[in-house]
Amino acid sequence: MDLRHHLRDVPDFPKPGILFKDITPLLANPAAMKESIRQLAALDFGKIDCIAAIESRGFLFGVPLAMHLGLGFVPIRKPGKLPWKTNRVEYVLEYGTDAVEIHQDAVHKGQRVLLVDDLLATGGTMGAACKLVESCGATVAGCAFVVELAFLPGRQKLAPHRVESLVCIR
Ligand code: AMP
Repeated sequence: MDLRHHLRDVPDFPKPGILFKDITPLLANPAAMKESIRQLAALDFGKIDCIAAIESRGFLFGVPLAMHLGLGFVPIRKPGKLPWKTNRVEYVLEYGTDAVEIHQDAVHKGQRVLLVDDLLATGGTMGAACKLVESCGATVAGCAFVVELAFLPGRQKLAPHRVESLVCIR
């Protein structure tokens, strides 16, 4: 099954010039969702201790993947959402900055963490998520995406971390 048939292109969302890759048709199709989790689980990142994913669309794939693999799930969230002690990493957006947070005790030294998000664009969000995992002493096993916009330098930005995606858009 080619998962790209379950993505919808929405031009000029959320602003003019952006071609938004809408994953809601994929979410609405249980066979396609099952296949996306099967394909993510089949990627070989070696030994993985837990799955971490980025709010909010990353959760839609991260949680089922963790359950499928029999691993725990760690949420990475926007500032102010996590209730316990957090580490924070800021990253640069086109205009201004944003930040992501993780619970300090969510991952620890010696653990290999697989990071998951729906889509890789510039890599800014995932780059910050990798730094967060490392700020807790854990190791990034790799970064897995459902969709990769390969015409943007996201993959290069995440080097030397291993990057895999199910649908590559050139
Ligand atoms: P980036 O930090 O630039 O790699 O952006 C990644 C995040 O922004 C992902 O969590 C995506 O959900 C979202 N995103 C960025 N560009 C797009 C796009 N063209 N279509 C859909 N989502 C996008």
